[in-house]
Amino acid sequence: MTRAVLTPGATIGVLGGGQLGRMMALVARQMGYRIVVLDPSPRCPTAQVADGFVVGALDDLDAARHLARQVDVITLDTEHVPADLLAELETLVPVRPGAAVLRTIQDRLVQKQFLDRIGLPQAAWAPVGDLEELTAAIGADEPGRGGHAVARIGRPAILKIRRAGYDGKGQVRIDAEPDRAGPETPQAADRARSQDDPAAQLARLRGQPAVLEEVVRFEREISVILARGQGGAHRIYPIAENVHRRHVLHTTRAPAPMPEAQRRRAEEMAVTVADALGHVGVMAVEMFELADGRLLVNEIAPRTHNSGHYTYGACATSQFEQHVRAICGLVLGDPRPLSGAVMVNLIGDLWADGPPRWQHVLAHPGARLHLYGKDAPAPGRKMGHVVLLDDDTDRALADADALIAALTTST
Ligand code: ADP
Ligand code: MG
Repeated sequence: MTRAVLTPGATIGVLGGGQLGRMMALVARQMGYRIVVLDPSPRCPTAQVADGFVVGALDDLDAARHLARQVDVITLDTEHVPADLLAELETLVPVRPGAAVLRTIQDRLVQKQFLDRIGLPQAAWAPVGDLEELTAAIGADEPGRGGHAVARIGRPAILKIRRAGYDGKGQVRIDAEPDRAGPETPQAADRARSQDDPAAQLARLRGQPAVLEEVVRFEREISVILARGQGGAHRIYPIAENVHRRHVLHTTRAPAPMPEAQRRRAEEMAVTVADALGHVGVMAVEMFELADGRLLVNEIAPRTHNSGHYTYGACATSQFEQHVRAICGLVLGDPRPLSGAVMVNLIGDLWADGPPRWQHVLAHPGARLHLYGKDAPAPGRKMGHVVLLDDDTDRALADADALIAALTTST
C-alpha cells in the first residue's frame, strides 16, 4: 500500500455525522486538519463542528462523490455505509478503512464466517433467512434445506439482523419455552409468550435476513481498542470492561482488572482481527469473558468505539487523535494510560423530565462532561457521556452511578 502522509492542513472527509465523527473532528481541527462531513442532516453532531458539510444519505453516491472531490482522505463515523459506494470512492481518494474491510464487517453473517476462518472463538451461530431455517437452528441437528447439518443453537437465543443493527436495535430474544420458564403471573405469561414464539420474533425483524446466536452466560464483557497504521504497526489501549443495560453500553471501566496472561490473550485476538482485515485506523473488538476464562469474540467495530471514549482524558493519545494519525499516515501516538477511568453513557431517558441537572457532574473534580449536540433526546439514544478519572476504578464506578442518579433528582 502506498503510504501517503497527510500533514496538518489536509482535509478529512467523514461519512456520517454522529458523535464519533464529532469527537474526531474536534481533535482533528485542534491538530490543524480540515473536516468535511456527509450526512442527511445539517444539524447532525459532526456538522456542528466541521469546516464543510455535504447534505445526503449515506448511500447517495453523487453526494459522496461531491464530498470526495473536496477532501484528501475519507473515513467513517459508522460501518453502515455501503461497501460498494466505498469501492467507488476509492477510485477518487483514499478511503480508510477501505471497502474490503467494510464488506467483511457490515454483514454479521460475513463477519462470523470471517471469524471462523481466522480461527477465533465465538458464540454458536446459524444463518436465518426464514422460519424454516429458524426452526431448524433452534431445533435439532437435522439436515437443513441444503442437505447439510444446521448448527443447533437451542434456547434461549438471540436473533440479530445481518445488516444495520446497533445499540441492540434489530435484535430479538427467543426465550425458553414457557413450561420450562414457569411464568407466575398472567403478565409474565404474556411476555413470555411473545418472546418465546420463534415465528412472532422473526416477524418483528420484518423479513430481514438474520443470524441466530446462543445466549452466552458470560462473566463479563470486555473490549480491546487498538489502532493499526498503514505500515501495519499497532497501538493497543488498556482493556475496557463494559456493562450493558438493555443491550446499550452503560459503563466502561479501564484498565479492566485482569491477569497479565489474559490481557495478552485478548490483545492477541484483537491484533489477529486487525491484521487479517488489513485494517487502517482505530478499531474495537468486543468480547465475552466466560467463568473459565475463555474469551469469545462478540463483534468487531472498524472505527472508534463508545468503550474507547475514556481514552480522551485518561490516555496520552485519545482514540480520536489516534484514528486521525492512522488514516493520515502519521506515526501512531502513545496509548499509555495516565489515569484509571470510568465512562458512563448519558442516554435520552435522562431527559424524560427536562434537562438533567448538570451541576452535579460539573461539581465533581474528576468528572468530564461530553454532550453531542443532539436536539432530540429519545429513550435509548446516546446523548453524551461522562468520564471520571480515578485510579480507584471501583470508587469511580460507584461515583458514576451516584452522578447518574443525581442528574434526575430535584434536590
Ligand atoms: P450492537 O452492539 O451492534 O447493538 P451486540 O451484538 O454487541 O450488538 O449486542 C449488544 C449487547 O447485547 C452485547 O454487548 C451483549 O451485552 C448483549 N448480547 C449480544 N449478543 C449476545 C449473546 N449471544 N449472548 C449474550 N448477550 C449478548
Ligand atoms: Mg456491540
